[in-house]
Amino acid sequence: MEKSIFQIPFKVLRRYRFYKRSQFWTKTQIEQYQDKQLIKLVQHAGQHVPFYRDLFKNIGFDISTFRGRIDMHKIPTLDKEIVRTCQKELMADNAGKFGITWDSTSGSTGTPLHFVLDDAVQANKIAALLRSYRWAGYKLGKKTFSLQSYYFPEHDYKFNRFYNILRFDSNKLKKESALNVIKEINRLKPKFFMGFPFDILMLSNFAEDEGISINSPQSIVTYGETLSQKKRKFLEKAYNCKVFDFYSLHECAAMISECEHGNLHLIEDFAYHETLEENGVRRLVGTSFYNYALPLIRYETKDNIALSEKQETCSCGRHFRTVKEIVGKQCDYIETPDGRFLGSVMSHSIDNAKGVVCSQCIQNAIDRIDINIVVDETYNEDSQIALENGLRKRLGHEIKLVFMIVPQLERSRSGKTPFIISKIGNKYI
Ligand SMILES: [Zn+2]
Repeated sequence: MEKSIFQIPFKVLRRYRFYKRSQFWTKTQIEQYQDKQLIKLVQHAGQHVPFYRDLFKNIGFDISTFRGRIDMHKIPTLDKEIVRTCQKELMADNAGKFGITWDSTSGSTGTPLHFVLDDAVQANKIAALLRSYRWAGYKLGKKTFSLQSYYFPEHDYKFNRFYNILRFDSNKLKKESALNVIKEINRLKPKFFMGFPFDILMLSNFAEDEGISINSPQSIVTYGETLSQKKRKFLEKAYNCKVFDFYSLHECAAMISECEHGNLHLIEDFAYHETLEENGVRRLVGTSFYNYALPLIRYETKDNIALSEKQETCSCGRHFRTVKEIVGKQCDYIETPDGRFLGSVMSHSIDNAKGVVCSQCIQNAIDRIDINIVVDETYNEDSQIALENGLRKRLGHEIKLVFMIVPQLERSRSGKTPFIISKIGNKYI
């Protein structure tokens, strides 16, 4: 698990002060900072990270001549498959001194990854995230409603007085629990909502079905899946407020957030973002400046973005480049026999399955899901047990799970291999 804000408070506070200033840097200041950070990171990787020591030697790359952004193309991009299989080699030989925490993700591709985040990158992530949320009208202590995978054992939702947050467990998203939490929202009147677009949208659907209204917040931040124009319009209408899109990765290799003026900015003081074109598609490749324990250089995010054609200074006064569109995580949802709707919250169900290269859940009937998996030679019985436990934790025991090892996954019309495919209807998407 990631460390909470209170375990590394001073680092976060220090970095927050930095991010408050750096958001108004000139273009030159941003570029100078990026070059400086990239040089430091690449030199560290070449000296202390076995994977990069070998790679740089093999390709004849001399770290002492590396100049920053202009030389980034000389380093090959890093695929998730390398992170999955070369975890030890990617860790710095002096990782311990940076203070490490293990983290895992399976993201939108159903590929379980384990990696370490050091204290610095976590402090930077929290501070940069707080700044982004500030753009959306949030500040610490503001009464908030948050939908996430909390795994509350007994409750569907809980109000935390210390953080001033009403927390709803997305794993419990069904009509009855939604109507109960809406009553609580209408009583507490939180001013700020955050969560997956699908989950927030489902709440308003349930409310509409019953002819009840939800007290409008001042703003909403969504993350974890692509906020399509259609979903944004629905949400803004249902909640009568502005919706802000936020994009980040557990691996901390990229961050994009929407400013007060409705533009999506690359967070260029947190990571170095590149877009690489292939067959008309622009892949987002990112390098975090701060994770020295496990540097990911030119990491393939598996998401595509389109930068704005004209890179004019945004009315907000920030010089971070702007993004026209993020084409990322988008998948269907699972409907369980007990009436729950599970969308992107499902994407961390398989974090612990060893030997799984990628995976996909296909719902063929209300009580049956086929789990297609592509595996390597390290996959064994324990992997399947871990996989089943992870899925059962969310799906419960009423649904039949059928595991199948396949050579490749089913693709959607857009050519992607979404983690969830529903064959029983998706009227809520
Ligand atoms: Zn802006």
